[in-house]
Amino acid sequence: MRMPLIAGNWKMNKTVGEAVQLVEELKKLVADVKDVEIAVAPPFTALYPVAQALKGSNIKLAAQDVFWEDSGAYTGEISPVMLKDLGCQYVIVGHSERRQYFGETNETVNRKVKAVLRHGMRPIMCVGEKLEEREAGKTMEVVKDHVVGGLEGLSEEEMERVVIAYEPVWAIGTGRTATPQQAQEVHQFIRELLAEMFSKETAERVRIQYGGSIKPENIAGLMAQPDIDGGLVGGASLQAESFAKIVKFYER
Ligand code: PEP
Repeated sequence: MRMPLIAGNWKMNKTVGEAVQLVEELKKLVADVKDVEIAVAPPFTALYPVAQALKGSNIKLAAQDVFWEDSGAYTGEISPVMLKDLGCQYVIVGHSERRQYFGETNETVNRKVKAVLRHGMRPIMCVGEKLEEREAGKTMEVVKDHVVGGLEGLSEEEMERVVIAYEPVWAIGTGRTATPQQAQEVHQFIRELLAEMFSKETAERVRIQYGGSIKPENIAGLMAQPDIDGGLVGGASLQAESFAKIVKFYER
């Protein structure tokens, strides 16, 4: 059985004060949740205070990005050593916004995935097609390219610590969600691909999250699919109440 993982990606939102207030509210709302792993990914500037606020709670800390070197002359970058030091357990890698605006490629994603694993954290590696790619019938081709390129050189043991987030770019922040069937089709494809690349056993253990305009109203239908093991939530994770409702999808 794969434990669902619901993670909130706050993107470039929340000052320190706002971030702490949000997790203080969230902690109370999800205190009774046991069978869903919960994580929040605040901006770098709020990681430390949020880590302090989360102590003793059932919410894990995630970062939104990382550089692959441990230290050195890389002005402006944040290393995996620093994230580990803050208590991060997950790191989002290769989000489509980073691919689109910051030149992230499969090669840099792969380096980051390996750096996160090397330091005992778990990468949440994002993959997904753009609207024009879906319309051109290239969804599986693009997803395969992201999966194969991002995971190159990993052992089976390392792969089992990776979470994959399937995030169709056309569904991110647009209010347009993939239907549960559209998402399931791609999740199943990814799992079959992992079985070919690693083994059937490893593929069965890897969690594949869906991301793209998840809301309290649509999470249950997505989670009912056999290969959807959680969600990466953007906009709806910025309010404690809506994120808590998504975390408690089993009540919907
Ligand atoms: C995301 O940023 O990963 C995301 C899925 O955003 P949203 O939920 O706002 O579409």
